[in-house]
Amino acid sequence: MQKGSISVQAENIFPIIKKFLYSDQEIFLRELIANAVDASTKLKTLALHEEIEGDVENLRISITIDEEANTLTISDQGIGMTEEEVKKYLNQVAFSSAQEFLDKYKDESSIIGHFGLGFYSAFMVADKVDVITKSYKKKSKPVMWTCDGDPEYAIGKAKKDTRGTDIILHISEDSKEFLEKGRIEGLLKKYCKFLPIEIQFGTKTETKSEGEGEDKKETSIEVPNIINNPKPAWKKMPSELTDDDYRSFYNELYPYSQPPLFWIHLNIDYPFNLTGILYFPKLGNNLEVQKNKIQLYSNQVYVTDEVKDIVPEFLTLLHGVIDSPDIPLNVSRSYLQSDANVKKITSYITKKVADKLEELFKADRGNFTEKWENMGVFVKYGMLSDDKFYDRAQKFALLENVDGEFATIEEYREKTQVLQTDKNDRLVMLYSNNPVEHNGFIEVAKNAGYDVLKTDLMIDNHFIQRLEQKLDKVQFTRVDSDTIDKIIDKDEERTSVLTEKQLDKVKEIFTEQVTQMGASVELKALSPEDQPVLITKPEFMRRMREMSAMQGMDMGNMPDNYNVVVNTNHPLVTDKLLKAKKTRGDLAKHLYNLALLNQGMLKGADLTSFVKKSLEILQK
Ligand code: ADP
Repeated sequence: MQKGSISVQAENIFPIIKKFLYSDQEIFLRELIANAVDASTKLKTLALHEEIEGDVENLRISITIDEEANTLTISDQGIGMTEEEVKKYLNQVAFSSAQEFLDKYKDESSIIGHFGLGFYSAFMVADKVDVITKSYKKKSKPVMWTCDGDPEYAIGKAKKDTRGTDIILHISEDSKEFLEKGRIEGLLKKYCKFLPIEIQFGTKTETKSEGEGEDKKETSIEVPNIINNPKPAWKKMPSELTDDDYRSFYNELYPYSQPPLFWIHLNIDYPFNLTGILYFPKLGNNLEVQKNKIQLYSNQVYVTDEVKDIVPEFLTLLHGVIDSPDIPLNVSRSYLQSDANVKKITSYITKKVADKLEELFKADRGNFTEKWENMGVFVKYGMLSDDKFYDRAQKFALLENVDGEFATIEEYREKTQVLQTDKNDRLVMLYSNNPVEHNGFIEVAKNAGYDVLKTDLMIDNHFIQRLEQKLDKVQFTRVDSDTIDKIIDKDEERTSVLTEKQLDKVKEIFTEQVTQMGASVELKALSPEDQPVLITKPEFMRRMREMSAMQGMDMGNMPDNYNVVVNTNHPLVTDKLLKAKKTRGDLAKHLYNLALLNQGMLKGADLTSFVKKSLEILQK
């Protein structure tokens, strides 16, 4: 055997590899298998142009564990290496680039797993590595290279009849886990599930049944245990795939999930190369759980499911696969964010998603509307976080009213413009986040000919603010924030039938009863048909409160602000109350309680005594 030294500056590389990369040791397997895949695909490419000895069609990579010898072996049937190539590729090139890399990033442990340390990552888990290889080139001799973790290596003759490379790792004492079948199988499933060359890990038993009834015979046979699906759906042409194919691929990615709503097949080769399938999942309530499920591949090699820097935040709600050899994997996150390719990819994906949604909307609005329940959150999220997406999505984003009718933003504007524009020329859009609780207010608004939107999602609070910013002269007001003729003020002042003195009296009677902090009495001359007393929650104060609560501020001790609006034209107030003398306090209290009840605000002991009181009145 011939001996040599790898290179001087590499002297300190192994301690670094071992120490700094410890947390992500497992990637060695991905790196070595990726090399084996490269060697195999290169061979296939060569075979298109020249005559190659032996089988080039059914190439397989096999992983074997020898527990007695403490070795893990990765074997491929790829191009192999000649002695010259071994010296060139394994000794110099790889090493110096690894050295350079480590010098640059040795303090940044977060990037581990995002770069290819390549062949030398083997030393994270092995004391000694043997490479036995035979090149595809005619008359080439097999070579053996061995290195025990020093920069010292030995190279010499070997015995190997078939083309390809075996990488034999002598697993070190503290990496014994990589000799466990379960651990390796787990890693193979994680990193290799969709590699383009078959990956075999031992064999598995399959039972085959033959014959029928009495004659039925079950036989067990050993078959190769193939880990991967070498031709995953995203690598096929959309025309080759049926809806069922897309669904079953989704199932392959996320077993036991509900079927997706629809999908987008990405396929682009200029100005960058990207393929993939993005799925719209059925969204549940807990969005966090469903985030970050997109898997990133580079030429079918699994890289990460941390796609935050490549996919805009709101798109992380989507599921599926993105595969691009153009996303730089060998660099740190901060670099990734400023990378021009990544930026282009991001905007391409955003555009594709918007296009697909628009296409669905145009093709079948009924179907689109049905899916809106699941998609709405996602689209609104996108419109909040991405201006370009807002512009595209405003064509198909839907608003739903309390009667379950849907309209685009523009359609809704047209629908409400005439009736709901106030004296200041502002279009007031009414909304309710809780149509059940606001039933009374909604009825009043509807009787006045107005429409009320349903905004019952968490995100709607923000979405409304966004629409207000974007739409000219549009104001959103919750249906219970004031009396309806104040919310949409058209300058049609009504006056009370009571005198100034009587009004003061009414105010005094109610103020005595309304003792809660944060509540104040307000007199208003409404129609005699309106409620005698109403609870309203001023829009501005309520929004402030909601915003603070959302930012995690504790509002526990702060009372809810609301107005107790007394209708100074209602007969119960103008007539009954003023005449009642002795019982006027009770009557005012009762009317106030009814208003609270109407807003779902009468609870606990107050509710109990209100019910008791009502029963007494009925018995009189
Ligand atoms: P990279 O793969 O990034 O080029 P590596 O350190 O992983 O760096 O490998 C260096 C080189 O060694 C490869 O480019 C390839 O030429 C050669 N090589 C590694 N593994 C194999 C293999 N299984 N079969 C053939 N050549 C290989």
